[in-house]
Amino acid sequence: MSDSTAPRYAEVYRRSVESPEAFWAEQAQWIDWRQPWRQVLDASRPPFAPWFPGGLTNLCHNAVDRHLEHRAEQAALIYVSTETGIETRFSYAQLHREVQIMAASLQALGVEQGDRVLIYMPMIPEAVFAMLACVRIGAVHSVVFGGFASVSLAARIEDAQPKVIVSADAGSRGGKAVPYKPLLDAALQQAQHQPQHVLIVDRGLVGWSRQQPRDVSYAELRVRHAQAQVPCVWVDATHPSYILYTSGTTGKPKGVQRDTGGYAVALHMSMRLIFGGKPGETFFSTSDIGWVVGHSYIVYAPLLVGMTTILYEGTPIRPDAAVFWRIIEQYRANLLFSAPTAMRVLKRHDPALLHRHDLSSLRAIFLAGEPLDEPTGSWVAQSLGKPVIDNYWQTETGWPMLATPQAFPEVAARPGSPGVPMPGYKVCLRNETDGAAVAVGEKGVLAVDWPLPPGCLQTVWGDDARFQHTYWSTYPNLQVYSTFDWGRQDADGYYTILGRTDDVINVAGHRLGTREIEECISAHPAVAEVAVVGVQDALKGQAAWAFVVLRPAAEALDAASQQDAIAAHVNATLGAVARPQRICLVTALPKTRSGKMLRRAIQAICEGRDPGDLSTLEDPLALQQIPDAIART
Ligand code: AMP
Repeated sequence: MSDSTAPRYAEVYRRSVESPEAFWAEQAQWIDWRQPWRQVLDASRPPFAPWFPGGLTNLCHNAVDRHLEHRAEQAALIYVSTETGIETRFSYAQLHREVQIMAASLQALGVEQGDRVLIYMPMIPEAVFAMLACVRIGAVHSVVFGGFASVSLAARIEDAQPKVIVSADAGSRGGKAVPYKPLLDAALQQAQHQPQHVLIVDRGLVGWSRQQPRDVSYAELRVRHAQAQVPCVWVDATHPSYILYTSGTTGKPKGVQRDTGGYAVALHMSMRLIFGGKPGETFFSTSDIGWVVGHSYIVYAPLLVGMTTILYEGTPIRPDAAVFWRIIEQYRANLLFSAPTAMRVLKRHDPALLHRHDLSSLRAIFLAGEPLDEPTGSWVAQSLGKPVIDNYWQTETGWPMLATPQAFPEVAARPGSPGVPMPGYKVCLRNETDGAAVAVGEKGVLAVDWPLPPGCLQTVWGDDARFQHTYWSTYPNLQVYSTFDWGRQDADGYYTILGRTDDVINVAGHRLGTREIEECISAHPAVAEVAVVGVQDALKGQAAWAFVVLRPAAEALDAASQQDAIAAHVNATLGAVARPQRICLVTALPKTRSGKMLRRAIQAICEGRDPGDLSTLEDPLALQQIPDAIART
């Protein structure tokens, strides 16, 4: 198609929202189906929106098997670990073999269609094999980020009720082994639910204790199933492919449940139209498989399209701050997906490192997961001479809601904005109280009219009521999904994200619920009460600061050791990602007369802003002591 006849963004977007069934049925042609769907969308039970019910397909077939005919020898997965120095390449044929070995091993441990498999793994190829093996046999994976510790892990085990847990002896961070097995054992001691088996990939980094017959070494099963042939199980498009937990405003994380068919269709479309990825090209996402970006853009989308994906274990600055660029040069990566925080980290290093490697293969850099500040975006674009594409989405949506899509060059990227709505998202900014659409230029809650496009969350795992209540009940008379983000739209249709409407914070692109951290800290015996707020941070976007009232018995003890003990407690229970940057000791917390914590006022003081209307404040002293408490940390 010549440029003049190629459909333009406005036309494609309009069709996607005005004739969603026709649009998505067309997109679904890019996916292999064993049996066609009965309906494109079952609209009988909003807010649920089952896409392609009756259609039989398999994610692993679409990501791996169907490429064997034309790309068996092409690299499917390139593994680079600067932690262990290992770099390995798996062709599609090798990936197919490895996935079947893993699938046979899981079957040998009793895993069947619909069973959950919890994957608590570092960034090693076996983690990807395990994800693909699950969807191959119709099992539902739930990957838990390796940085989470025992309490977070136990909560997820309890909720997902996995039949098998796949883990490893250890991860590695900055060249130091981080044992996983003791954290897993501690989580299993806390959880009521017990898996039948724990499958351990032994990397030889640390010793691990084996509880017989529960714990099984993957090395043993791998030999036994080396030649296994495990056919794909054809599942309904609406069969869950995975559960991925994400933080909300309560202490209990939500299990975002994703389908199979709609996810495959949406990811394929997103890779082609939003990212501009083509079969045979190489995609490098620096995320972690424990996050949604890792699910969608390390594992599934690149493979669905027949690309090569790079799986990277390491930090952005080891052995030096040029490691991303070295990987891009060496493997001729075409597209990079990273997070603003990683770029802010690189900005602190020698700028000469940006020019040490040949980046001629690289077409564009995509950044997401947190607000991209204009100076960082411009710095990356100018220093590397490559387009920087901000894109906005959530664990819930699985793929970008706002971006500047690469297939439509007439939509130029604009600094400070993640762009325009992506196909299928009927985005609307709404008044916080009555849900009325706000005018251009005005701040509103970013909402999406029903139905959400394919690939978005189907429900909250095991809790349809929570799905309806959390996301769809903000405006009782409207069928709209709330993102809990504030936004603004300009006259040209570009959106700006202005922060969260709830108590969720974003630390280095990691979404954390302040309530989750508060619940953890209040479980410490020395703590009477606590408030956690997100405070602007030049490097990480936001940092968690905790304001703690100690119990009378604990007040007598030295403050520094109390603060250390609380920090260690968070580390051990939730993991280092959730550890507050500051723990400030106070004698009271600011509350309204009705007892509601004034978190926004605390946050304003932390950021040096005016705390706003304090007419409902019960005890002014509680707020006045905050600057001193901060100064003492
Ligand atoms: P998560 O579900 O962990 O991916 O976090 C989703 C949240 O991160 C969103 O609701 C936003 O608050 C924030 N977020 C993600 N991408 C962007 C972006 N490009 N710009 C601004 N905020 C973002």
